[in-house]
This record gives sequence, C-alpha cells and structure tokens, in this order.
Amino acid sequence: MNLTSKDYVEYIKMISKRYEGCGDYITSLDAATGDGDHWTNINSGFLKLVEIADELEALSISDMMKKIGMTLMSAVGGSSGVLYGSAYLAAAKAAKESETITIDVLKDIYQAMLDAIMQRGNVQPNQKTMIDAIYPAVQALKISIADGFDEKEILVKMKDAALEGAQATKQMEAFRGRACYQADKGVGHLDPGAVTMSYQIETFVQYILTK
Ligand code: ADP
Ligand code: MG
Repeated sequence: MNLTSKDYVEYIKMISKRYEGCGDYITSLDAATGDGDHWTNINSGFLKLVEIADELEALSISDMMKKIGMTLMSAVGGSSGVLYGSAYLAAAKAAKESETITIDVLKDIYQAMLDAIMQRGNVQPNQKTMIDAIYPAVQALKISIADGFDEKEILVKMKDAALEGAQATKQMEAFRGRACYQADKGVGHLDPGAVTMSYQIETFVQYILTK
C-alpha cells in the first residue's frame, strides 16, 4: 500500500457518500443516547472536505492532514468536531515528511489519532465512545504488522476489529459524552460516534482493497 494525497482524497469522497446515505440511522442512534446531531455534524464536516478536494489533493500528506483537521475543527459542531480536528492535527505531525501513506505510516497516523482523541476527550477504551472503534483497530493493526501478516490480511483484521468494537459499545456504560447523563448510561444502544468511526475505517480499507 502506497497512498498519495489524491488517493486519500478519493477515500474522503467515498466516506462522505457513505455518510450521506446513513443519516436516518445515525441520527436515530444519537437521538437515543445523545442530542441527535451527530450525523449532521459529521456529514457536514465531510461535505466541506469534499468541497475543498482539489486544494487538499495538491498538498503533502502532512499538510493535507493539517488542513483536514483545521477544516473539521471549524466546520463540525459538537464534541466530534473538536475530537476529529485534534485527531487529524496529530496525524499531520505523525506523517512528518512522508511522501505517501505506507502501512507503517498508517500505523503512526492512526496511533496519533487515537492518542489525540483519548487525551482531548479524557477517555479510555470501554467507555462507550468513538475510541471503542479506533482503539481495537489500532491494536489489530500493530499486532498483525508485528506478526508478519500480509497487507491485505492486516487491513481486513483492522477493519473487523473496528466493526466489532463499534458493536461492542451496545453493552457498555457511558462515562463520557452525553450518554452518561442517561439513567441507563446508554446500555442497550450503540454509540453513534463509534459507529461512524468504524465506517471510516471500513471504508478506508474498502478503498484500498478495491483500488
Ligand atoms: P455531542 O455529544 O457534543 O453532541 P456529537 O453528537 O457530534 O457531539 O458526537 C457524539 C459522539 O462523540 C459520541 O457518540 C461519542 O462517540 C463521541 N464522544 C463524545 N464525548 C467524547 C469524549 N469525551 N471522548 C471521546 N469521544 C467522545
Ligand atoms: Mg450529539
């Protein structure tokens, strides 16, 4: 795997399309445990990125990540705007001088995103947030790289871990975010941020594997 900024922007277009098609579902998840705006927040952010696609694809990997972070920070409301913004700004630092995204650069980028969200959100795994999709994905990525799996297997394991992690939020009690104010702490409901995060990771892997 060897992705350019142009490739990454193609993935952004793909995930934005996917978000456009799942509004009712994601809104219903956030209506159950939060204030119902998660889909509007995330969808508007990615539409904004698609609007500036030409500008993004002309940038280096690091500058593109920085521009994405700044755009999401200003265009997306709610907690997810700040959290995704911080994640992409951290990814920009992790990408440093990388000319393309290889599997090792991907590992550094995702680790930086995970760390940034955990720090900014003051959140740990198993607290029913978007972390519960990206944390297991990063673990699967690191372990399968270390175990010497081929790239396709690594990516599939990462994607499966993200999807399973998002599903696992159904039984979790919330400690952060609006769901922790619910009497049942959101138990029995999927966390919307974990679901949209798992879609990002799944779509990224689908993009690479069908490219
Ligand atoms: P808000 O909760 O401000 O309305 P959104 O609806 O856009 O923001 O996003 C809600 C999602 O954000 C939640 O489903 C959860 O995954 C994630 N989230 C909320 N607070 C935190 C936090 N402190 N750390 C990590 N993720 C969080
Ligand atoms: Mg909300």
